[in-house]
Amino acid sequence: MADTPSLRIVIIGAGIAGLTTAIALKHHPAIDIDNYERASELREIGASIALGPNGMRTLDKLGIQNALDESIAFRNESGHPMIYRHYKTNEVVSTDSHRGSVEYRHLTSRFYRAHLQQALLEHVDPSRVHLSKAFHSVSRDVTAGKLLVTFTDGTNTTADILLGADGIHSAVRRSFVATSAPTWTGWVAFRSVFPISHVSHIADLPDEAVHIWGPDRTLFLSRLGKDLFTVVGSSQTDPAAADAPYKDAVWDTDGDVNVLREYYQDWSPLVRAVVDAVPHTRVYPNTAAHAIDSWVLGDGRVTLAGDAAHAHGGAFAAGGSLAIDDAWAFAASILEVFPATTTAPSRIPSETDIARALRLYEKTRKEHTDRVLRTVHQGNRKKVARVGKVETDEELRARMKSREDPSWIHEHDVEATFLSVLAGEGKRAEEQARL
Ligand SMILES: Cc1cc2nc3c(=O)[nH]c(=O)nc-3n(C[C@H](O)[C@H](O)[C@H](O)COP(=O)(O)OP(=O)(O)OC[C@H]3O[C@@H](n4cnc5c(N)ncnc54)[C@H](O)[C@@H]3O)c2cc1C
Repeated sequence: MADTPSLRIVIIGAGIAGLTTAIALKHHPAIDIDNYERASELREIGASIALGPNGMRTLDKLGIQNALDESIAFRNESGHPMIYRHYKTNEVVSTDSHRGSVEYRHLTSRFYRAHLQQALLEHVDPSRVHLSKAFHSVSRDVTAGKLLVTFTDGTNTTADILLGADGIHSAVRRSFVATSAPTWTGWVAFRSVFPISHVSHIADLPDEAVHIWGPDRTLFLSRLGKDLFTVVGSSQTDPAAADAPYKDAVWDTDGDVNVLREYYQDWSPLVRAVVDAVPHTRVYPNTAAHAIDSWVLGDGRVTLAGDAAHAHGGAFAAGGSLAIDDAWAFAASILEVFPATTTAPSRIPSETDIARALRLYEKTRKEHTDRVLRTVHQGNRKKVARVGKVETDEELRARMKSREDPSWIHEHDVEATFLSVLAGEGKRAEEQARL
């Protein structure tokens, strides 16, 4: 491909956003794409992750059917994306429902994150995923008309476009928007994934993913693929309190199952039996940041995707699907200015074309994810305001029933939004031509 003109896209991160983007563009004969990942190996880290119908549909569209497979994607047979149970009585108080028409294979699914990442990796050329490469900085090589991306080991590479898909603490985002570092929300998750054999003896073990709510905390239980089970406990404190427990906790570190058992000691016998059987747990302090003003950075050649673009901290279990839809929208925007043809294109997109592609991408995604962020921060403020308040059983039940209906997040149609943005552009061009 030495003499073939190509558009070089460098992606920072090989998480869900980074890998999905690489897959979405891999068939373009003149796009040259590499992922640079900080981790030294893509090993099994993380616990359960959910994908809504939006993410599942997009994976399907991109031909990533192995990720939809029953062996790794666990769906609630009832079709309810989530079922909310009472902490003492175990009765179902409330349910989420899909609003639009959702095919079975696109139903909300729970994964062991490592299974999902592995399914994505199967679609990527391993020689294009460069490990132990942590992003350091990006500058402009004016003579070459390219970006120069530098890594912390001192090496560098050039790019026409840089996509920061480097997660919630994105170094790419912070290098352009220094004030965008996420802060602790006061919420801590205690995540465990283990073989279901640890809990299969428990009578009434839920067959479906359930969120059990009590006055001061919640517990999430779900089966996962390959005979795994997940338990996610939680603690909410006021992050501003000087003595807030877990104030200095580090993300993804060993937790103490005895703390978990103490937290849930007054809950239903089912909950106590499950928590007693949890073999280990890990601690994940939750962080979040507000929306940034623009997704088009660095003279119109740098942008962001996934948690790097919208550090919402995993609320609504939406992070995976938002990342997948970002990847689709980024790829669709690039393909709009640089369509894949069977013959090598004679013209590489100009600076103006690239800036237009990144604007299209931003217009497709930013309004939606900004709304997600506003909703998340509003919810976080309410959670903190409740800390230390005594809630009656009636109030708890009312709160369970008056949750935000998250279907606008989980069933968002990224393709329809992209098409309407394109149509808007067409109309504007017509209007300008008439003037
Ligand atoms: C190890 C890990 C475990 C997780 N576990 C869970 C979980 O159990 N449940 C859940 O709901 N969500 C989890 N998440 C978050 C979840 O994956 C994301 O919210 C969501 O999938 C969005 O994906 P993303 O690609 O934007 O970000 P991520 O999945 O966070 O991927 C970002 C990638 O960028 C890499 N990276 C970070 N900084 C740099 C840098 N400076 N240079 C190069 N590469 C960099 C990271 O190593 C990572 O591979 C986890 C994330 C990670 C990284």
